[in-house]
Amino acid sequence: MKTVLISGAGVAGVTLAYWLQRHGCTPTVVERAPRIREGGYKLDIRGAALTVVERMGVLDAIRSMSTDVRGGSVVDASGRRVASMDGDTFGGRVHGDAEIQRGDLHRLLYDLTKDDVEYRFGDSIASIDDGPDGVTVTFDGGDTRVFDLVVGADGLHSRTRALAFGPEEDFVRELGYRVSVFSVPNHLNLDRWELTYVGPGRTALTYSTAQDAEAKAMFLFAADPAVPAPRDRAAQQRMLADAYAGEGWEVPRLIEGMAAAPDFYFDSLAQVHLDRWSNGRVVLLGDAAYCASPASGQGTSLALVGAYVLAGELAAARGDHERGFDAYEQRMRPFAEKNQKLGPSNIKRMVMKSRAQVRVSMAMLALMGRMPGRDRMMAKVIEPIHRAANAITLENYEG
Ligand SMILES: Cc1cc2nc3c(=O)[nH]c(=O)nc-3n(C[C@H](O)[C@H](O)[C@H](O)COP(=O)(O)OP(=O)(O)OC[C@H]3O[C@@H](n4cnc5c(N)ncnc54)[C@H](O)[C@@H]3O)c2cc1C
Repeated sequence: MKTVLISGAGVAGVTLAYWLQRHGCTPTVVERAPRIREGGYKLDIRGAALTVVERMGVLDAIRSMSTDVRGGSVVDASGRRVASMDGDTFGGRVHGDAEIQRGDLHRLLYDLTKDDVEYRFGDSIASIDDGPDGVTVTFDGGDTRVFDLVVGADGLHSRTRALAFGPEEDFVRELGYRVSVFSVPNHLNLDRWELTYVGPGRTALTYSTAQDAEAKAMFLFAADPAVPAPRDRAAQQRMLADAYAGEGWEVPRLIEGMAAAPDFYFDSLAQVHLDRWSNGRVVLLGDAAYCASPASGQGTSLALVGAYVLAGELAAARGDHERGFDAYEQRMRPFAEKNQKLGPSNIKRMVMKSRAQVRVSMAMLALMGRMPGRDRMMAKVIEPIHRAANAITLENYEG
């Protein structure tokens, strides 16, 4: 029976804990936050990831917590709706894909595992000593334990990766944009609707869901990729306010909301690329290994599928972790790479370079809304996402 320490109780870490436990291992999850992280943006679960959550028995629960966003509109500076689409088209989904708020998914997966898995909240790995018979881990809390394996599922800025593979700048590729998300009062009285405003080099959107009385605001703007995103909240909020200064529509009011938001999130849009995802007895999973960036819309699905494959391949390798890690990487890498390719191409559609480009795409959107072949055109935009989401065949490791 393998003892596995998982760093990070995000979608990747908790899903891995579930599957490891089901395959007879003993997982421990260490999470820096004091409790499971609630709140956050809405997430899509598509393609192969739907099979994973179905095999976990939570697909119906996920559907019952659906954001149920009915549709979305692109607006101009005066608030006029230039084009509107149904929710699935606007969100790049095909029929059957699921959309859920990040916090709801975290809570659901945590509730599924909390009775069988040891969770250490408010702690973190301080050091890793990888030996022939196990990994000696010292925690920030001061105690030391030995595990058979350690999994870094601690996100884009993974500390496990830094400890076992090297500094972040060796693996994180900036896409040249910043993203910010936070809750705001639903002052536009949106009813499961999304509004998107596109300015030169900066996009702002707001939406409400069936599960939340408040609305969310999201900002995506171009930034120098050579300058790292500030880590200090005051500097982040200054940067956001500066980037949208003088912008029209409801942007000033949405930006104002950041001061009181309990869940202000700000980061670079970035991807993670490593030549190898394992080193000795330490392996990476989810955003820590192959972050595709929020622009791909596939981070959650990659986390779910990766956790399923890693746990399954370790079980199939019957104690030979090197064989299990190799098989995990062989199966997952082509899938992860296909989905990573979506990030840079999607972001170019979401953030326009110049005022002229904004004008042209607004005119095209308005025209498209009146054209008979519009559904076919939208299907072409969604098709690559759908293809990437299904670009893996899942083994049945219990069969
Ligand atoms: C704004 C935004 C929008 C997004 N939209 C989508 C979308 O539409 N569709 C989609 O599929 N994905 C989307 N994503 C991406 C998705 O949230 C992630 O890709 C996905 O959650 C990856 O999960 P993860 O578990 O690998 O990492 P994370 O969700 O980042 O989880 C990592 C966990 O590790 C913890 N942690 C960090 N450091 C430490 C440490 N040192 N010690 C212990 N614990 C630590 C963190 O607190 C966190 O709980 C979006 C992300 C953002 C930010």
